[in-house]
Amino acid sequence: MPATATVPRFSDWGAYSGVLLLHTIASAVIRLADIRSLDAFTLPYPAEAQRAVDRLVLSCLLRGIDEMPRSVPDLLAWCHTRPLEDWPLDLPPDAFGPDDLLVDPVAKVPTQLCHEWWIHSRDSAAAQFDRDVVRTAMRLCQQVSSPESYTAFRRLLVEKPVLTSAEKFEISTDLYLDPVTELLERCYEAAPVSHRRDGVYTTCGRCLTLLLPLPDGDWWCERDACRRRGPAPTGRVLAEETDAEVVYQLVRPLRQFVTGPGRAEVDLEARLGTLRAGTVRLDVAMWPGFDAYDLRITFPDGHVWAIDVKDWRHPGLLGRAAKVVPAQPPYDESCWVVPQAQVDAHGDYLATYRRNLAPEAQDLPLLTDRQLVDLARARLRGNTNVQLATAGGRQGGSDA
Ligand SMILES: [Zn+2]
Repeated sequence: MPATATVPRFSDWGAYSGVLLLHTIASAVIRLADIRSLDAFTLPYPAEAQRAVDRLVLSCLLRGIDEMPRSVPDLLAWCHTRPLEDWPLDLPPDAFGPDDLLVDPVAKVPTQLCHEWWIHSRDSAAAQFDRDVVRTAMRLCQQVSSPESYTAFRRLLVEKPVLTSAEKFEISTDLYLDPVTELLERCYEAAPVSHRRDGVYTTCGRCLTLLLPLPDGDWWCERDACRRRGPAPTGRVLAEETDAEVVYQLVRPLRQFVTGPGRAEVDLEARLGTLRAGTVRLDVAMWPGFDAYDLRITFPDGHVWAIDVKDWRHPGLLGRAAKVVPAQPPYDESCWVVPQAQVDAHGDYLATYRRNLAPEAQDLPLLTDRQLVDLARARLRGNTNVQLATAGGRQGGSDA
C-alpha cells in the first residue's frame, strides 16, 4: 500500500461536466426501479428516464462520440454491462471504482454506486421521502418529549424491515411507538410478488430484508456489502397462508437510507456492548438527542465519544459528504466510522476519502469500526492517552 503523506486537497467536482449528468442518470435508474422491474420495459418511458437519455446523447454529440445509448432500454443495457469508467462521461477519477456498474447484471436492480450517486444529488422525490419520514418521527416524538420513542422507531426500522401481519399488529400496540403509529403505516408496504418463491418469502440472515429469488435457484440480497461477504444466509421464511396474512417490507428509501446503514450502527453497538474491564462496561446510547448522531459512548470516568457510522462504498463521495458531528448532546471527542470491510474492498479508501474531504470537515477523524473497538477497549482498560483524532486524523491514519 503506498504511503499517503501528502496533504489532502479538496478537488472540485463542479469542474467535471459529467457530474450533473450522472446525477440525472442515477436518479432516473432508481426511479425506474421503483416503478417496475428494470428488465421489463414498455413505452411510454418516464419523463425523467427519457431526459437522462436525451442529455447523454447530447453530451456524446457535443464530444463527437458516435457510440451512445439512444433509448431508455439502451441506457439500461449500458447500466448493467458497461463499467462507469467506459462511459463517455467527464467524471472525477475518485467518483467510482474499477468495474463499477450502475445496475447489477444478475438481479437487475440499482447498485450501491447508483444509490450513492443518487444520495449525492438528492434531487428525487424518493430521496426526499426518507428524510421527511425521519424528520416527522422526530417532531412527533419531540412533541411528547420522548427520545425513547424516537430511538424505538429508529431501532424498529433497522431491526424489523420485514413484518408479518401479526407483528404489525403487535407494533401498533407498543406504547413506546404510540407517537409514530400512523407514520409507520406509510413506512411499510405489502411485499412484491417478485420476491416470493414457492409461495413464501425468505429474508437475508444478515440484513433481515427480503431476498430476491434468482432464476438459477440462488438468492440475491439487495445490500452490496452483504453480497461481498458471500452467498446470503437465509433467515426467516414467511408464508401468507390466508388472505388476511400479509408480508410487509419497509419502502425502498427507508431500507436504503435507514435499514442498510443502521445494520452497521447496531453491529457496532453490539460489539462495544461486549467490552469489559472487570465488571465495568461502556454505556452506549443509540441516536441520542433525537438522532443528533449515531452512538454516544460514555466511559466509566465520564469521558464521552460521539460517533457517526457511514457504511459507504465510495470514499470519494463519502469525503464530499463529510461534516462535523453536531455539538449536542455534548461529548469530548468525535469521529466518523466506516466498516473495515468497505476499506478492505477498496484499494485506497482512506486516502481517497481524504483527497475529497470537504474543507469544513478537515479535522474530522475517520476510523474503521475495528480501530474504534480497539481504541474503546484500550481506553476502557485505563489507557486515557487514546485519542480519536490521532488514530483517525490526517497524520495518524494509514491505509494498512
Ligand atoms: Zn443480506
